Amino acid sequence: MEDVLFLAHVEEGGAVSPAALEALSVARQLAEGGKLTVGLIGGATGKAAGAIGGCGASRWLAVEGEAFTQARYGSDVIAAEAICRAAGAGIVVVAASSRWNRVLPGLAHRLGGRADTHVTGIAREGDSLRIHRWYYRQRLEGCLTRAQRPWCLAIESGVAPAWQGESGAPGVEKVAADAGAVRAKVTGVQAPSEDAQTIRPDAKLLFVTGAGWTKKQGDGQVHAKEAEEIIRNFLRQTRASLGSTKSLVDLGGEGQAVLPFLTHLNQVGQTGSTPRHPKGLATCCHGEEPHTVGWRFIAERRAVNLDPNCGWARGKADVLYVADAFAVMGAVNAKLGGG
Ligand SMILES: Cc1cc2nc3c(=O)[nH]c(=O)nc-3n(C[C@H](O)[C@H](O)[C@H](O)COP(=O)(O)OP(=O)(O)OC[C@H]3O[C@@H](n4cnc5c(N)ncnc54)[C@H](O)[C@@H]3O)c2cc1C
Repeated sequence: MEDVLFLAHVEEGGAVSPAALEALSVARQLAEGGKLTVGLIGGATGKAAGAIGGCGASRWLAVEGEAFTQARYGSDVIAAEAICRAAGAGIVVVAASSRWNRVLPGLAHRLGGRADTHVTGIAREGDSLRIHRWYYRQRLEGCLTRAQRPWCLAIESGVAPAWQGESGAPGVEKVAADAGAVRAKVTGVQAPSEDAQTIRPDAKLLFVTGAGWTKKQGDGQVHAKEAEEIIRNFLRQTRASLGSTKSLVDLGGEGQAVLPFLTHLNQVGQTGSTPRHPKGLATCCHGEEPHTVGWRFIAERRAVNLDPNCGWARGKADVLYVADAFAVMGAVNAKLGGG
């Protein structure tokens, strides 16, 4: 069996992210019969090491320092390379966060190995390892193996249960890494406020908005402002994640009434994202792509549409409410207490 290295960044507050705990489950599975090493990167890694101390790793490595707290390619790749060289494992496992996806190809290149991102499954066949991964925004699935080592794998979130187990006090070896020559400087962080940040991967519900919200309604008028208030109110109360159809996010470019808090990052579907949430609610949405591709990994789906013949909502939702979304969501908000 090949040795496995699990790599993780330490989050603010010293924790390991939920996605990293999922990748740790995969790393443990891969390391069965072999050796598991954990490598942590951050300002201080002791708390994170303690939290996952019972995961069964036989070796613990860490790169620590202020320079390694920031998400920055230059310092991240130096830290990861130093740990990989110290561990010497054939398989390197990380969570497919934007931070790791950015670093992994460069890391594999430095080590003379290979990287695969968007990994959704692994299978051992004797001594050989096969992975399943997505290509082209989850439209194609590939099953492959590679001879090159180290093989660096970024595991998509939602494909493995998060590791849960005892904490511990492992002996962590510090690995030297020098970020002194990194030219990129982080001068500050500009982030939307908590309420403006509408993409919430951990939310229980994906709320999808379609172009109907900004179309003329029964009275012949557009009610974009009212739509904005209803949607914001619902998101505020439920902390749902906000998805959108392509038509709705594209409208801004056509000079039509828009919902100003939506960007292309909210778009779900073939040319958008395919998020994973336990539940989904689509409103004013007719499109094929959001319903078939955007909802692909949504377990329980409901839709509100005025049109009883909306084929995609009928075909892809478990429950279709043929109703006015303004009225339905207004009533839902009132029931939630913030109408
Ligand atoms: C190559 C390609 C890739 C694409 N990729 C994507 C993609 O990734 N994601 C995506 O979303 N689209 C994608 N599209 C576009 C897609 O085909 C649809 O055109 C689009 O999704 C339609 O958006 P919509 O449902 O918001 O709008 P519409 O089709 O205009 O539907 C609006 C709906 O709102 C309903 N409605 C109106 N008022 C109300 C009300 N008061 N209450 C309830 N319902 C109401 C109407 O009955 C209607 O069904 C792609 C298209 C192509 C060609």
